[in-house]
Amino acid sequence: MRRRSLVPKTAICFLLFCCCWLNTVIHAHHEEDDHSHSAEKITIGKSTYTYVKSILSVYEEVYENICDRQLNHVPELSQLLIDYATKGTETETKNPGRHMMQGILEGAKRLQRADGLLNTQIAFASISDAISPLFKSWPNLLKKNKIELFQCKVHRHSWLQPQDAPPVCPYAHRVTSQCTSITDDYQ
Ligand SMILES: [Zn+2]
Repeated sequence: MRRRSLVPKTAICFLLFCCCWLNTVIHAHHEEDDHSHSAEKITIGKSTYTYVKSILSVYEEVYENICDRQLNHVPELSQLLIDYATKGTETETKNPGRHMMQGILEGAKRLQRADGLLNTQIAFASISDAISPLFKSWPNLLKKNKIELFQCKVHRHSWLQPQDAPPVCPYAHRVTSQCTSITDDYQ
């Protein structure tokens, strides 16, 4: 009897140990990620900035199309993003500005290949992830470009949208479902 009752206890102890270890690992990774983001201040040249502005205007169109669930024009808009980001990688020779442009380029290619709403949203999130560190580095660029950077706590992704408009999460599955847990951390 004694021996039997020992088995579950050992199992529970082992499970607890695993949970603690996993938690420590995840926590350490998060800290590492946070650190790398905060350390990465993006500086870009003037010519690259003109491409950033062109990218932003197309990005805003893609954002509105996704919010309206009108994806017909997304492939041609993706081509514009690919063209501008390619030029950006040519003008920006230094990291991490070049790294940002390469991230936008990869995301734009993924956006062009995207099939259906979910894949379009995933590709749009990767472009947003690539471009948002620039605005975290230089928050005054948000005002200059009349945009705001939001993040949805439910879908865990950021996006840029026109300022003074109510925040609408582009990652929701239905056009009618409004995400309520949206934060604006970078004003
Ligand atoms: Zn959301």
